[in-house]
Amino acid sequence: MAQEDVFKKIVSHCKEYGFVFPSSDIYDGLGAVYDYGQNGVELKNNIKQYWWQSMVLLHENIVGIDSAIFMHPTVWKASGHVDAFNDPLIDNRDSKKRYRADVLIEDQIAKYEEKIEKEVAKARKRFGDSFDEAQYRATSPRVAEQQKKRDALHERYSQAMNAMDLAELKQIILDEEIVCPISGTRNWTDVRQFNLMFKTEVGSTADGASTIYLRPETAQGIFVNYLNVQKTGRMKIPFGIAQIGKAFRNEIVARQFIFRMREFEQMEMQFFVKPGTELEWFDKWKQTRLAWHKALGFGDENYRFHDHEKLAHYANAASDIEFHMPFGFKEVEGIHSRTNFDLSQHAKFSGRKIEYFDPETNESYTPYVIETSIGVDRMFLSVMCHSYQEEKLEGGDTRVVLKLPAALAPTKLAVMPLVKKDGLPEKAREIMDDLKFHFNCKYDEKDSIGKRYRRQDAVGTPFCITIDHDTLQDGCVTLRDRDTMEQQRVAIADLRGLLEERVSLTSLLKKI
Ligand code: ATP
Repeated sequence: MAQEDVFKKIVSHCKEYGFVFPSSDIYDGLGAVYDYGQNGVELKNNIKQYWWQSMVLLHENIVGIDSAIFMHPTVWKASGHVDAFNDPLIDNRDSKKRYRADVLIEDQIAKYEEKIEKEVAKARKRFGDSFDEAQYRATSPRVAEQQKKRDALHERYSQAMNAMDLAELKQIILDEEIVCPISGTRNWTDVRQFNLMFKTEVGSTADGASTIYLRPETAQGIFVNYLNVQKTGRMKIPFGIAQIGKAFRNEIVARQFIFRMREFEQMEMQFFVKPGTELEWFDKWKQTRLAWHKALGFGDENYRFHDHEKLAHYANAASDIEFHMPFGFKEVEGIHSRTNFDLSQHAKFSGRKIEYFDPETNESYTPYVIETSIGVDRMFLSVMCHSYQEEKLEGGDTRVVLKLPAALAPTKLAVMPLVKKDGLPEKAREIMDDLKFHFNCKYDEKDSIGKRYRRQDAVGTPFCITIDHDTLQDGCVTLRDRDTMEQQRVAIADLRGLLEERVSLTSLLKKI
């Protein structure tokens, strides 16, 4: 099946099974805004828990906060967002569609890369077992030709972005003969800057009201609380502050479902270090964060780092963790070495001294910062994309199964009496009333047992238990595994221990 079709199926599965709905659905939705349904909220909360505990529980020197979405407007002047949080946009006059100029060019670079991969794939087929890929890449004239075009475009694009040369960005689009995917024409407007922050007003009277912004990142809430936390928590450098919360960006192009939203959620951790040690910590955090992703068991080959060439105004190193989505490798998390830019700017704009006094060396300095920043929704999407599977079964049937990591699954256990009589429902309720304090359980007695299994497969429930007539005699139930579909008899008394080992967040955290 084409990857595009797989993605469409995932999107409709998310809606059909109560994971993600378009916002204001009865009014036909609102662009790039989504709501999480009864299963989605559980999965999302589990992802947040996994992140939070990996930060705050597993690191003695990391604490959490929850700062407000509204912040003093000067925060955004100090951080540079008022002046520089822009995307270059371009319109196609025929389709009236708006695009990010940088994304159009990046897509063009990706096209050259795809051509190279196609050449390699063709050669692999032609030469069979004797194919030497490295040699082919190094010597094929066709590969060389595409590589040259790709590198030249990349170089020109990087220079234009670094200088934010809008005329040059447009010229690249014209020279590369990039067309609008909708109209197919090259009738482009000039490239303009567009600020991504949403504005609103606080204050009850029009006169007294002042403009404030919805935060475009949660990080600034951490920086402005640096002194509060460091002093009240008596934190010693190196230490970190973690936060999970909503962020808002007026994205120009709303695409790819919950990958790019206008209201989304971030999990960010700012780690304060001694100047000069930041690049060492940057590497450490890159590895720590990659290990967090890999512990989910989605396959190491599905992750890669993408080091930034164009650095944000505040950074001296930056790298993304990309995940293999159905629409290619895409950024899920950013790790940035932000220098002392933010704290220094806030010191300057607020007039406060924001420093750290090192009791061992008796010196004061402005700490440097390593940031790890991951989007909850993008993480959710990567979990969904990897877990959604259609399996052919013996006998020709297919089943749709969400092979979610058990610790993230919305429901851990479905409790099912085989029939709705003979005391089986009562027994099932009794078991559930005990286990519900420990795991998220669902009771289901409707339809045939096969149909009930399918329903649980589709929402990713890792285990089902069936209570049958023998249960009343021998105190055992049938435990069915979602992934293998194997069934085993288990004593009711052993259920809790067995499940704990397989579905708890603790087991997942131990894998990091
Ligand atoms: P992009 O280049 O895709 O716009 P970014 O580099 O601007 O992302 P950051 O500012 O580094 O993103 O934000 C950190 C993380 O927040 C991203 O890795 C991503 O997971 C998430 N994120 C950013 N923008 C959005 C959005 N519009 N919708 C959903 N998640 C987002």
